[in-house]
Amino acid sequence: MKKPFVTKEQIEEIVKTYPTPFHIYDERGIRENVRALCEAFSWNPGFKEYFAVKATPNPFLMQILHEYGCGCDCSSMAELALSEAVGITGKDIMFSSNDTPPEEFACCEKLGGIINLDDITHIEAVEKAVGYLPKTMSCRFNPGGLFVLSNGIMDNPGDSKYGMTEAQIFEAFRIMKEKGVEHFGIHAFLASNTVTNEYYPMLAKVLFELAVRLAKETGVHVAFINLSGGIGIPYRPDQEANDIRVIGEGVRKVYEEVLIPAGMGDVAIYTELGRFMLGPYGGLVTRAINEKHTYKEYIGVDACAANLMRPAIYGAYHHITVLGKEDADCDHMYDVTGSLCENCDKFAVDRKLPAIDMGDYLFIHDAGAHGHSMGYNYNGKLRSAELLLQEDGSVRLIRRAETLNDYFATLDCFEIGKKLIRQ
Ligand SMILES: *Cc1c(COP(=O)(O)O)cnc(C)c1O
Repeated sequence: MKKPFVTKEQIEEIVKTYPTPFHIYDERGIRENVRALCEAFSWNPGFKEYFAVKATPNPFLMQILHEYGCGCDCSSMAELALSEAVGITGKDIMFSSNDTPPEEFACCEKLGGIINLDDITHIEAVEKAVGYLPKTMSCRFNPGGLFVLSNGIMDNPGDSKYGMTEAQIFEAFRIMKEKGVEHFGIHAFLASNTVTNEYYPMLAKVLFELAVRLAKETGVHVAFINLSGGIGIPYRPDQEANDIRVIGEGVRKVYEEVLIPAGMGDVAIYTELGRFMLGPYGGLVTRAINEKHTYKEYIGVDACAANLMRPAIYGAYHHITVLGKEDADCDHMYDVTGSLCENCDKFAVDRKLPAIDMGDYLFIHDAGAHGHSMGYNYNGKLRSAELLLQEDGSVRLIRRAETLNDYFATLDCFEIGKKLIRQ
């Protein structure tokens, strides 16, 4: 059973100030989870989580994570600017970008962040953009082939655009050492949204063994190993959540088997989690505004794929709770749709739910990461507000909803909608 972190009564109060649709985040859940992560890796004195800003680029939420020592994983100018704005700078920034424009390398160096190279040709690009190579550099590794977990789920690194081959990473480390780089990091992201405790330990083994070979053969100092993102969340109610303590212990075991005997017990472990940090602690709240009976039963809501794109683009499952009907029988079958002129704009297809009445509030679960941030403006739809449910139960607006004036702001030579828009 998935239980929303807000009740119907709370939402009825909130909508008096902030109309639906909106994203709402659970501060208590966020804090409990980040504490558990830090504790799970507390055996490693250098441990740091670099929150993947793209998942939920909201400065208020970034600030909460920063209270626990989290930095930012950025991959664009805007994400660097956001980090700077909340006071996350220097080695608290990991710049894990790809296909990188040179000015972004320069911007990262200006903030003192760590550059994580996606490709060997970027050594020269950084020298050109920055004027020198920073003393600390990281490289992204791609082992190719398939990455298979024991539950049969796999990802296909050999088919992904990211990272360097093993030969390239050896070459890159040699070149950069010669050019005066002193501290090196290794990074890899081999599988996405893994709902199993074994992903990080398996990835750690690959990276730790590579680190030992690199240190031996090139003589560099490997300062950190970045396990990146990929720890998933149970979007479906029948999935079992990862246990971050078990994951932390699994990584520790491999660390003691591989790095300690090689005399590399000073290597810091970094992570770049996004989904795991915020996914379950955000929900999209929307209201049923239309019902339609044709060849199927449709419920139209006031949110659409512009507010949460994952179902439309990946066919991703997001659990839905009809607020106030948590204990009712799920004896109706619905497609829950948004209003885009796109047939894929459906939050759920053939979903068993309680009978929905017009005006009911639907809580779409696990929208806290890669939710609002993926929003777009197709069909002239506006991105919704973001609210924070604080620990004392009060609600804080942490991003206002877009207005039509925002939408038309880039067409300022026209006077659009002046008769229609009152705001
Ligand atoms: C997207 C991304 C992450 C975060 O991934 P999650 O699945 O949200 O944990 C981390 N690092 C990099 C480089 C990414 O592109």
